[in-house]
Amino acid sequence: MAVIGGGVIGLAVARELTARGSAVVVLERDGIGSGASGVQPGGVRQQWGTRVACRLARESVAFWREATDRLASRVPLVLRESGYLFVARTQDALAELEANVRLQNEEGVPSRLVTPDEAAELVLGLRAEAIVGGAWCPEDGYFDQPQSVVEAFASGLDVRRAEVVALRPSGGSWEVALASGERLAAAAVVVAAGVETSSLLAPLGLDLPIEAEDRYLFFSDPISERLLEPLVVSSELRFAAKQLASGRVLASDLAARGDEQAGRTRWRATIRAAVEELLPHLAYVSYPLLVRGCYDVTPDRQPALGPVPGLEGLFVAAGFSGHGFMIAPAVARIIADAVAGSLDAVLETLGVQRFAEGRLVPERQLV
Ligand SMILES: Cc1cc2nc3c(=O)[nH]c(=O)nc-3n(C[C@H](O)[C@H](O)[C@H](O)COP(=O)(O)OP(=O)(O)OC[C@H]3O[C@@H](n4cnc5c(N)ncnc54)[C@H](O)[C@@H]3O)c2cc1C
Repeated sequence: MAVIGGGVIGLAVARELTARGSAVVVLERDGIGSGASGVQPGGVRQQWGTRVACRLARESVAFWREATDRLASRVPLVLRESGYLFVARTQDALAELEANVRLQNEEGVPSRLVTPDEAAELVLGLRAEAIVGGAWCPEDGYFDQPQSVVEAFASGLDVRRAEVVALRPSGGSWEVALASGERLAAAAVVVAAGVETSSLLAPLGLDLPIEAEDRYLFFSDPISERLLEPLVVSSELRFAAKQLASGRVLASDLAARGDEQAGRTRWRATIRAAVEELLPHLAYVSYPLLVRGCYDVTPDRQPALGPVPGLEGLFVAAGFSGHGFMIAPAVARIIADAVAGSLDAVLETLGVQRFAEGRLVPERQLV
């Protein structure tokens, strides 16, 4: 079998297929984690606005809690459950959080609404008077060494540096054409090539609407004092921030897009304004480091998963829209089941044909 893409998704799928006894080769153009997987800061959360996203997150958290053992990692892989707080500054925003918390609770996610005073107890330094409430899940958190997690998925796999240029059905199996001119035969192919998944599949007649969207993260220098334990998100202020285990404070203007040179001053101003409003004790933190990454986004901000109808032996796992790291364990299990012929209920919702059939499942609780 062949898996195209050596990001966290391709590696997790390949690992799961290998564990089930398949001979798998991972074909990666540039190197393990050279795409979005090498930029993401390891955030893991269960607070979502759709059932399907909650289910993927919940299954994955059970895996993440045992990540060191499950991945036989030599370095400890610790999910720090420091909590995520989504704050609301208006009653409308609070009503949306409340509806999401209700749905999350029905899916077993232990989130809850909090008053401004409770929020200020959870997040030291938060200005209670700046918000009307928030939503909190104590099980949300992050891996402080997310690249070690990606590498642990890769350990022991057959990963080849190769760019795939074409896929062709060939007598009940697949021919995988490489840029080197070499051709491989594979009984099944899983395409987990991030943004490039669409262009690999288009010649086969599958129109997958996955687009690249630039994203930017601002980092402070390491600070020894602990300033911000939970991650704080304000959609209304387009702001998210947390302090990593390294001491660096990570902050984002959630609407930062486009040219870096033109935008960086404006994005810094957004962060500064939100800090003054919500977390004034961070006012003296500066962010000398700006890191650019790319989301692979679909129209409903949910991944495209599973078999490609009419093309037997071809599977997709792409379009993760900014949250592929955290759900990689569940996605790997679901794709490996599909390769074995068993279709998880999640695929009825997130299957690749939903775009053509107009069955979008918009996820709105985004960071
Ligand atoms: C700034 C930023 C912050 C993020 N924060 C989080 C977070 O906190 N939590 C979270 O869960 N997610 C987060 N994400 C999203 C997460 O990083 C991605 O959803 C996830 O890494 C997707 O993994 P992937 O394997 O699908 O894609 P990628 O990591 O992009 O891997 C795709 C791979 O395919 C390879 N490839 C492409 N075309 C070919 C080809 N033709 N032949 C061979 N190889 C090919 C590429 O080289 C690449 O290595 C963030 C993303 C960004 C950019």
